[in-house]
Amino acid sequence: MKDKKQNIGLNYNYQVAVDSKNGMVVSQYLTQNPTDAHELFEILNHIKIEMDIYPQVLVADNGYMDDIALKYPHKNNIRLLIPDRAESSKSKSKIKENPYTKANLTYNWKTDSYLCPMGEQLNYKNNRKLNGKWMRVYSTNKCKTCPIKKQCTKSRVKEIFEPIDDLRLKMKADFQTPEGKNYYKKRANLSESHFALLRNIRHFQKLNRTGMKNAEKELTILSIAHNIQKIHENLKATII
Ligand code: SF4
Repeated sequence: MKDKKQNIGLNYNYQVAVDSKNGMVVSQYLTQNPTDAHELFEILNHIKIEMDIYPQVLVADNGYMDDIALKYPHKNNIRLLIPDRAESSKSKSKIKENPYTKANLTYNWKTDSYLCPMGEQLNYKNNRKLNGKWMRVYSTNKCKTCPIKKQCTKSRVKEIFEPIDDLRLKMKADFQTPEGKNYYKKRANLSESHFALLRNIRHFQKLNRTGMKNAEKELTILSIAHNIQKIHENLKATII
């Protein structure tokens, strides 16, 4: 598959689940799928096989979002937190600087509406098919007389589109709670610390073994070392 520099080679996509309490690797595997889009189901299956239990909360980045990914955790009572595309693009500077983009409009779960920079409420109006997918459309009739309309939209009125999916809406609302945001912040620190340890402390830059099974074994040894270090850190903290 292609790597990040678009070179074709013997590359694998490394999937890893880390527990939020102790920072230990609870599950990992390699796949040849070039994207993470269909991996959430697999990750949950791996966790269930290895830990004999599903996690109560699973946090992942936007790359894992797909329709099956949403349904499976819901059926198994797992609280899934994945930011939608608008939310995950907030950190990009181009988006940060644009107050009119969907990512920067506040969504209100109770009123099912968005608040624009002029303080107007964009309410749910109707459904419309876009690129073969039905979407919920939000707008306000205040745009017509708005003094900053030219900066906000090139269209007659500003419209916000949201996929028609109750689970997505539910998760969006959950994600915007302080608890939801906290979980996501924690996730970034956890996965970064795991990869930072691999690269910077263990100087792991690439797999030395060839073949998926052998490469997985190599990563398993590194994860065991990672977990031993975490146990040691936790014991030290307890003794102090
Ligand atoms: S154009 Fe409409 S959505 Fe944009 S700021 Fe004005 S009122 Fe709000």
